[in-house]
Amino acid sequence: MSMTFSGQVALVTGAAAGIGRATAQAFAAAGLKVVAADLDTQAGETTVALIRAAGGEATFVRCDVTKDAEVKALMEQVIATYARLDYAFNNAGIEIEKGKVAEGDEAVFDAIMSVNVKGVWLCMKHQLPLMLAQGGGAIVNTGSVASLGAAPKMSIYAASKHAVLGLTKSAAIEYAKSNIRVNAVCPGVIDTDMFRRAHEADPKKAAFASAMHPVGRIGKVEEIAAAVLYLCSDGASFTTGQALAVDGGFTAA
Ligand code: NAD
Repeated sequence: MSMTFSGQVALVTGAAAGIGRATAQAFAAAGLKVVAADLDTQAGETTVALIRAAGGEATFVRCDVTKDAEVKALMEQVIATYARLDYAFNNAGIEIEKGKVAEGDEAVFDAIMSVNVKGVWLCMKHQLPLMLAQGGGAIVNTGSVASLGAAPKMSIYAASKHAVLGLTKSAAIEYAKSNIRVNAVCPGVIDTDMFRRAHEADPKKAAFASAMHPVGRIGKVEEIAAAVLYLCSDGASFTTGQALAVDGGFTAA
């Protein structure tokens, strides 16, 4: 099955780093026009520069996905720039938690839920009307292996990523007859800034992270990008409402 695309324009949130940047680069390498959205203008512009240097087409738009007006303006910018929105990768997310449930902090709860859940909901809220109007599209939301099971000392994050699946599956059913597919990618531990912030200070933790994946290593950003492109591609035309674990066997063990 080939990785072919009937659409031309892809949007990636959280595109200034890690999984988002790699996926924006992969969409561009596949010949799509890319809107790279993020809070971080400087690093987001770097993503666009990397894409252009490789011969691709991309535009950066600064957007805080937790703000309705900014997400609405982002979609307006996508249409103003490239006239349509075929694929959306709603990927911006944060992980800022350090303790068990009883040690949790209200502000941390609100911040994680705001980016990881409200952000995905707002993005879909403003993307779906565009896709409906043009007759179809595909959305991929970033879940996690923490969408599929417990995440000790990351319970708020796990709750937020479980919620991403609730949004994903519900939207998939609501729009199934409208030629819009909605899926989630659920990465295991991936080598990004998020991972390094959490593990670099403690080599034992990093070794543990590798060992918990049956393949014996953590994942690469390109391995998540490939799964996202597959879920958007024509090869996944019968796939909707799914949570695709890309985790080196972690959730199968
Ligand atoms: P990262 O921290 O390297 O990149 C996240 C990007 O999101 C950053 O560029 C940041 O500026 C942006 N962002 C944060 N808040 C935002 C907001 N309010 N509006 C717009 N942009 C915002 O992280 P990553 O590891 O690439 O993670 C990407 C996604 O993958 C997240 O949803 C994360 O939860 C998920 N994930 C990561 C891992 C991992 O091991 N790295 C595993 C499973 C799931």
